[in-house]
Amino acid sequence: MTGGAGFIGANFVLDWLASSDEPIVNLDLLTYAGNLETLSSLRDDARHVFVQGDICDRALVDRLLAEHRPRAIVHFAAESHVDRSIHGPGDFVRTNIDGTFTLLEAARGYRATLDAAGQADFRFLHISTDEVYGSLSPSDPAFTETKAYEPNSPYSASKAASDHLVRAWHHTYGLPVLTTNCSNNYGPWQFPEKLIPLMIVNALAGKPLPIYGDGQNVRDWLYVSDHCSAIREVLARGTPGETYNIGGWNEKTNIEIVHALCALLDEMHPRTEGSYSQLITYVTDRPGHDRRYAIDARKIERELGWRPAETFDTGIRKTVQWYLDHPQWIADVHSGAYRAWVATNYSTR
Ligand code: NAD
Repeated sequence: MTGGAGFIGANFVLDWLASSDEPIVNLDLLTYAGNLETLSSLRDDARHVFVQGDICDRALVDRLLAEHRPRAIVHFAAESHVDRSIHGPGDFVRTNIDGTFTLLEAARGYRATLDAAGQADFRFLHISTDEVYGSLSPSDPAFTETKAYEPNSPYSASKAASDHLVRAWHHTYGLPVLTTNCSNNYGPWQFPEKLIPLMIVNALAGKPLPIYGDGQNVRDWLYVSDHCSAIREVLARGTPGETYNIGGWNEKTNIEIVHALCALLDEMHPRTEGSYSQLITYVTDRPGHDRRYAIDARKIERELGWRPAETFDTGIRKTVQWYLDHPQWIADVHSGAYRAWVATNYSTR
């Protein structure tokens, strides 16, 4: 897999190894978003082989494939934050497009060696986003897998480009690819630049809770372990060449999310100064901010029988509790100590 030190990738590693002895080779560059502290419980676990490296490094990817001979590549690695893509799109083009291209080419060569050896079973699962579909108005139907791509940010454009490359490697070269397009994830171990952890962490520090524009932008939200279970289903039983939308049937405005968080924190961690909602501050909107995303996840339910296990109420409560229980993880992210963690605690190769 790639990107297994990031938020969703690390949750996937932990979920996978909780229920399977099949080992994982985890290739991750450890950018600011990669945090091996999240995988500290696997430090001495031989089933998890961590390799610090770049998905754009073809020689490294070729070597890992030849050495470990995996039955699948699950590709999470990406630059993933829309605001960062507005200020510095170059890294997004490089990792999300060039990196995916490098992996596809390496996978194509590797697959040929499997075919030659009579081992046909191989899959390339590409993890993508609902943001590739563009923005909806309030009355538009939710995104289905046949919705035309209309990406609006450098992030979503780079992910859309990578999705198109994956599709083309199937149609042109017969690579057994699968693509998943998922809505916003939340849950444990998420870097506090994304809406939900940012709000929790700021609230606990008594800092302002910045809301873009009028706070009425709508997103669908999925608890991260439900995303991981959907990925496992698609990997096991999805049809090569197909794409699957994954969502939680939880459309919420940003301001609804922040009010829900404040109410939970008021209950679970009250502060003497009064409700956390007093910290809400409206700030200038993000340029080109998409108004609404909504996912129609009926295909994966119909074809693979997947549905989320968590409701928004159960998932968000677990998430707040997790951040309340992990002050050291938050402190290490804020101080930057998590970046030194790899050198002192984890053997990489
Ligand atoms: P993240 O930013 O938390 O983690 C990305 C990981 O990729 C990090 O560990 C980073 O070190 C690694 N990485 C970055 N560039 C690399 C490179 N060149 N080579 C190797 N590793 C590199 O991201 P996330 O939120 O976990 O998202 C994972 C995937 O899921 C992404 O492809 C993203 O587009 C997609 N996705 C995310 C969400 C969401 O809500 N977070 C929703 C839908 C889809």
